[in-house]
Amino acid sequence: MTVAIEENRVRFSELRMEGVTRRFGPAVALDRIDLRIKGGEFLALLGPSGCGKSTALNCLAGLLPLSAGEIWLDEERIDGLPPERREFGMVFQNYALFPHLSVRKNVAFGLAVRRMGKAETARRVDDALRLVELTEHAHKLPGQLSGGQQQRVAIARAVVLRPRLVLMDEPLSNLDAKLRVQMRTEIRRMHQDLGLTTVYVTHDQEEALALADRVVVLRDGRIEQSGTPEEVYTYPSSTYIAGFMGYRNLLEMPVVSKDGGRVTIADRELRLTGVPQEKITGAHAVAAVRPEDFRLADGTSEKRNLLTVRVEVSEFHGREVAAEGVTGDGHVVHFRLPERVAPGSRVELTVPEERVLVFGESPGPEED
Ligand code: ATP
Repeated sequence: MTVAIEENRVRFSELRMEGVTRRFGPAVALDRIDLRIKGGEFLALLGPSGCGKSTALNCLAGLLPLSAGEIWLDEERIDGLPPERREFGMVFQNYALFPHLSVRKNVAFGLAVRRMGKAETARRVDDALRLVELTEHAHKLPGQLSGGQQQRVAIARAVVLRPRLVLMDEPLSNLDAKLRVQMRTEIRRMHQDLGLTTVYVTHDQEEALALADRVVVLRDGRIEQSGTPEEVYTYPSSTYIAGFMGYRNLLEMPVVSKDGGRVTIADRELRLTGVPQEKITGAHAVAAVRPEDFRLADGTSEKRNLLTVRVEVSEFHGREVAAEGVTGDGHVVHFRLPERVAPGSRVELTVPEERVLVFGESPGPEED
């Protein structure tokens, strides 16, 4: 699909947020954010509810004034510009379509506001509708469309304006799982075909990893980690990020030894050796392990990282069973099994040392 590509080619080389801060009364929603977004990049802002994602997006869009800091688009300072002068397109979670206007009129709305001529408007709207594959539905009202189709109208309405930057705030969260995955692919395709620069807000790590060139994880209004999906997934910089990236097991225990690039932490029964991700100085450390990295021990070959758990829950997930067990000293362990095991039975698990990441800090916000 090559509709309207030419006019949409990347329009700037870098957008910079410098010390961007936003307060709501005494609360600091964004705390001195420094972020560079390259023209053509697909950047995901990821984090749990309340970490400041929407605030960051609204500050970029000009819908919220900054409390401090600056936003630059190459050599142009834009944080004082009203939203319409920034030439950004926005796609929201709730689509925000006009219910009484047809699909075509919804898409044309922004162009009408800009007093664009009839012929040019028609050409651009046709292009945008073709791009989102809604040409045949152009005459319908939003209420006559499915959720996914409505979301595509919202996207067409944003891209028809040839925005310098597209801002998306959880655009897929109201869709069912199958449609979400389908639309995800569509959004990525459009980003590439149109040469857009996209900032995409989500709390869904899978969505962020699948879509983005770069993932920025926010925590309490600050950037906790920024990197390619591969980097953030493979080398989480903290237990907070690890927890977000599928390291469901965050096991805190006393440190018993450190040698040869490995750290061993142990309780009465559970003992894990892994790779330190930072300098371990405290008496306790945390082992982060993904459930899928545990496997059943075959009883002979492994000597380290063996653990016995009593199975509490096992859920059928198609190809495998997701299970939860407890060690003799009370640590809850999440793991996967090839088949269902009755609650109460004991299984012996093992995990390779290089798949155990050891962090010095405690998991969970209460313990920071
Ligand atoms: P969610 O995914 O739930 O939308 P988020 O990561 O987008 O969360 P924000 O909406 O940016 O988070 O909110 C960040 C912080 O700022 C939160 O603590 C929130 O309560 C606070 N906040 C946001 N908007 C306002 C407001 N208008 N007035 C007061 N506090 C606000």
